[in-house]
Amino acid sequence: MTNVHPIRFQITPKQPGAHLFEVTCTIADPAPEGQVFSMPAWIPGSYMIREFAKHIVQLWAGSGEQALAVKKIDKSTWQCAPCSGSLTLRYEVYAWDLSVRAAHLDTTHGYFNGTSVFLKIHGKEHRLQRVDIQPPEGDAYREWRVATSLPRADAPPYGFGGYEAADYDELIDHPVEMGAFTLASFQAGGVPHDVAITGRHRADTERLCRDLALICEQQIRFFGAPPPMARYVFLVTAAGSGYGGLEHRASCSLLCGRDDLPRANQPEMSEKYRTLLGLCSHEYFHTWHVKRIKPAVFAPYDLANENYTTLLWAFEGITSYYQNVMLLRGGLITPESFLELLAQIITRVGRGSGRLKQSLAESSFDAWIKFYKQDENAPNAIVNYYGKGASAALALDLTIRRDTRGTRSLDDVMRALWRRYGETGAGVPEDGVERLAEEISGLDLKGFFQGVIHGMADPPFSELFPRFGVKFELRPAETAADQGGRRSKETPEKLAQRPVLGARLAEHGAEAKLAHVYDGGAAQQAGLAAGDVIAAVDGLRATRANLDSLLAAYNPGEAVTVHAFRRDELMTFTAVLQAPPADTCVLSLLEEVDDAARALRSAWLGAPDAAPLQA
Ligand code: ZN
Repeated sequence: MTNVHPIRFQITPKQPGAHLFEVTCTIADPAPEGQVFSMPAWIPGSYMIREFAKHIVQLWAGSGEQALAVKKIDKSTWQCAPCSGSLTLRYEVYAWDLSVRAAHLDTTHGYFNGTSVFLKIHGKEHRLQRVDIQPPEGDAYREWRVATSLPRADAPPYGFGGYEAADYDELIDHPVEMGAFTLASFQAGGVPHDVAITGRHRADTERLCRDLALICEQQIRFFGAPPPMARYVFLVTAAGSGYGGLEHRASCSLLCGRDDLPRANQPEMSEKYRTLLGLCSHEYFHTWHVKRIKPAVFAPYDLANENYTTLLWAFEGITSYYQNVMLLRGGLITPESFLELLAQIITRVGRGSGRLKQSLAESSFDAWIKFYKQDENAPNAIVNYYGKGASAALALDLTIRRDTRGTRSLDDVMRALWRRYGETGAGVPEDGVERLAEEISGLDLKGFFQGVIHGMADPPFSELFPRFGVKFELRPAETAADQGGRRSKETPEKLAQRPVLGARLAEHGAEAKLAHVYDGGAAQQAGLAAGDVIAAVDGLRATRANLDSLLAAYNPGEAVTVHAFRRDELMTFTAVLQAPPADTCVLSLLEEVDDAARALRSAWLGAPDAAPLQA
């Protein structure tokens, strides 16, 4: 059909102080039986029903000057009375969620995802969607500009004005930032990349761009140039603390602590900056893997309901593995630093007994009600499909490399996924990743997938790592804060003498409040529960800061009297302290390795490919 009318939106930060965007939507030819329209219930990439319709404060419908009756059909859907001319919908959206998943507006900046502000006009989702982005009124906002990957229509670069998307699916996949942000730019693979940083910060943006360019070039080279987007935008919000990212087809939204950003006076690679680069690398990898290679059930998304897939482990886990692989190949981290990151992932996964009760496929399927709705029992009940998914991807990569004598790797599987499903837009069937891994490697991997993905098996790291000249060790944690990855100065025997309670404290507040009580631990056996506040151990006052040192006076096997408040009731427990489990992973390069292991290791961890990328 030609000459179909576009859907026209206008969005204005009408009252920044009241956190209200005003949106109007004009439909030239509304459905004759009465136009139906709705708000998404969730945002792709974050698998939880969020009910964005709840933030619509007032909604008015009219045709010309005449107001039209609107009735609600369900929680997210409305229908207008029929009208003869064009239909205008006007509504306010309350925006006060400083996450990457929703919308936020105050006098310092505005940010929105399309899923939070744009109605879907039923039957007209495939039309061109035009958006006029307006600035707030007043001199205070003269410096504001716009950062988004939404294609410009008549808006000047970084300016307010007209933007457009080919359809509704695209409209809601380009978040928009407005304000007086810092803007920096670089090229990768011949494509312009922007970084917009909102929030107070003193970042070395030159270094950030230089490092991001290395990561982006690696990934473009990995999947094959040119990249599938004409430009790319990193939308960064720097706050006092925070961590989060959400991928889109030509941009990502990131929330980080301002100390995670590199500073001019800190030339070294801090752990925080390494984590931030990992997050950027992760979201950028999604440009291919989940935004274009996607589960068949996401093509298209049903934004009114849960979309069930057993494949989130493959999209989030494989991405979580490659986020660090790309830092290594880009020359941003050393092989030792890469192994430290892997060891930390293995440590995190191994500490939760939930991995023995839920498979990766089940965790993916139930993400909507479990992973995204974690409670105090989560470590005992669910497996994290990011962490164990990354472990599984690592084990799959090593298995393919070992069993094909280095002629194939997970890289080949990823590139085949891209060619077969990404470039074609065909959705990946539920067994598509497994089938392709077998096809590309020529190996029988059914045992691997049955055990590690569909079952509760731990990846066989103690067999795999030595074949790559890497030493795999598990030792007890040094302290409650020990995340693994580093050698301890103490012997395992000495570390095993530290008594533990088998619980994790809440991270904030002065009180020793139990956040998680682990299966089979001393706290659980004593009858302590998550939420309990430990007041004293053997009559001495306990706080969050001193609990570990109070316990250090005892040996594993000794009993202590614990006084704790459950709600407002003081209770007394007897806890028999335990020895810490050997659950902390350390990976290191073996010095004595045979030629086969050396060859596999250098192919896996080898020197970065630093040849310049031809645009
Ligand atoms: Zn992700």
